Amino acid sequence: MERPPIIRKSAAGRRVPPSAPLSWDEARRRLAGLPGGGLNIAHEAVDRHATGRLADRVAIRWLGASGARREITYRELAALSSRFAHVYRSLGVEKGDAVFVLCGRIPELYAAVLGGLKCGAAVSPLFAAFGPEPLKTRIKLGRGKVLVTTEALYERKVKKVAGDMPTLAHVLALDSAEASSMLRSASESFEIERTTPDDISFLHFTSGTTGMPKGAQHVHGAVVMHCASAKVALDLHDEDIFWCTADPGWVTGTSYGIVAPLVQGVTSVVDEAEFDAERWYSILEAEKVAVWYTAPTAIRMLMKGGAGAAKRRPLPALRFIASVGEPLNPEAVWWGMDAFGLPIHDNWWQTETGGIMIANTAAMDVKPGSMGKPLAGVEAAIARRSERGMRLLEGPGEEGELVLRAGWPAMFRGYLGEEERYRRCFADGWYFTGDLAKRDADGYFWFVGRADDVIKSAGHLIGPFEVESALMEHAAVAEAGVIGKPDPVVGEVVMAFVMLKSGFEPSEELRLAILGHARRRLGAAVAPKEIAFATALPRTRSGKIMRRLLKARELGLPEGDTSMLEEGA
Ligand code: ATP
Ligand code: MG
Repeated sequence: MERPPIIRKSAAGRRVPPSAPLSWDEARRRLAGLPGGGLNIAHEAVDRHATGRLADRVAIRWLGASGARREITYRELAALSSRFAHVYRSLGVEKGDAVFVLCGRIPELYAAVLGGLKCGAAVSPLFAAFGPEPLKTRIKLGRGKVLVTTEALYERKVKKVAGDMPTLAHVLALDSAEASSMLRSASESFEIERTTPDDISFLHFTSGTTGMPKGAQHVHGAVVMHCASAKVALDLHDEDIFWCTADPGWVTGTSYGIVAPLVQGVTSVVDEAEFDAERWYSILEAEKVAVWYTAPTAIRMLMKGGAGAAKRRPLPALRFIASVGEPLNPEAVWWGMDAFGLPIHDNWWQTETGGIMIANTAAMDVKPGSMGKPLAGVEAAIARRSERGMRLLEGPGEEGELVLRAGWPAMFRGYLGEEERYRRCFADGWYFTGDLAKRDADGYFWFVGRADDVIKSAGHLIGPFEVESALMEHAAVAEAGVIGKPDPVVGEVVMAFVMLKSGFEPSEELRLAILGHARRRLGAAVAPKEIAFATALPRTRSGKIMRRLLKARELGLPEGDTSMLEEGA
């Protein structure tokens, strides 16, 4: 179906005006700073609210997997995180020590993380579905001193490898008698470590989509960016109910699942359970979610069930939907219009950037398929790098590597144990993202593909995203993963793995129909030469399609690091 290239926004019918762009300096002025000087994320996120007008507002509304509910106010979260800070201190945690948190999405997770920040520790939340090996690798690399977990997770995941983590001095199992008594007897007020904007706050691991996950070090100064982007890229307004579906084991779940909404003073919904379409719709409805931040993989899963399931729910509170983590196919943006009457706003960033860099904001018209425009204060460009140096590509539509002017507040400050790799990311004052993109004449950025995934065929550079998006327009296609397959004549040929929607069966006829559709949409040079039906696509645990694995499997090559591969994929 032909769609218009742009979704125009109009002020009519808006309940709240879209947030205006916010410079870093304006964002800085919205922060309090530590009494006596310094900047600490936990102070901005909870302590300053706990003594102000937001003290009794619900900070976290927790929905347990088995139906329990718990609400924690800003005042309570400030108090509980101070208790954690005292406990860490009593275990010898000093500024710069590493605290790892592995406990699933339970309310204590939030206090455990904030408590670590209060001590000036480098905090690293871990995804609870990791197995023992990935946990050990991370804790060893990050020189973890304390691990906060639960007895069950300790038994299942940590015990086996506990002897192989020499820096780990203490394991605090939250449901143990020891931890409960330590927390109960700790004071509810804590003098926050006087950190500066350049002191380390979080240690986040990348998703491992292209290889071994990297450990990115972040700083307290990032809170400036979380403040600005929560307002502008997520359109958070004072009394909003906000739901970020990402787990805090990924940077999105920390930056926008913990820090940004708290800094903004809104109420965050936290769901302990895993994805389930019916459950998610009922959360949106029952909790009156106003702003919803999710990921393409979740949207595609909802799309599989059709828009009808969404339309049956009246969602009058829902005002803004945003997505991050993978390219958002135009089809998904249009599906949002159909299912919710709202476009899904794509935004782009990485673990390394610490915060949202490029976004479709509430004030902007949306061009489905585009990541949007750089936020105020972010300078993004398209560049090519060679031995002779770098060259900026100024012309609209020119494809090259997406680069960012170094020095934004949430910029990572190192890859743990990989100084040379960190250094190589920068040249001439720019940070090289490893993603290929282009910019159009209106200043909108378009994702082309990861540098590693781009296909070179008969002199063309083909981005898998464009091909996958075209395939997804076909009525039978639920998802697609596209790779380049070596070919002696043209270098590489485009090959697509296609997952069908329920109700469609693989057949030669359907394969030809999808091929025909792709040729019409993309032209013979870009369309896949080969289409294979797949029942599942390999994904990272954060839900990203692992094209390198599709390729390795197709070519019978070694699979490389698969520790981040989702179970059973
Ligand atoms: P690794 O670096 O270990 O291979 P990763 O890059 O997937 O893993 P993350 O930092 O979680 O780890 O993901 C950031 C990457 O995700 C971006 O560099 C980009 O490739 C992709 N990405 C994120 N948001 C978008 C988006 N809106 N559009 C397209 N791609 C996106
Ligand atoms: Mg990456």
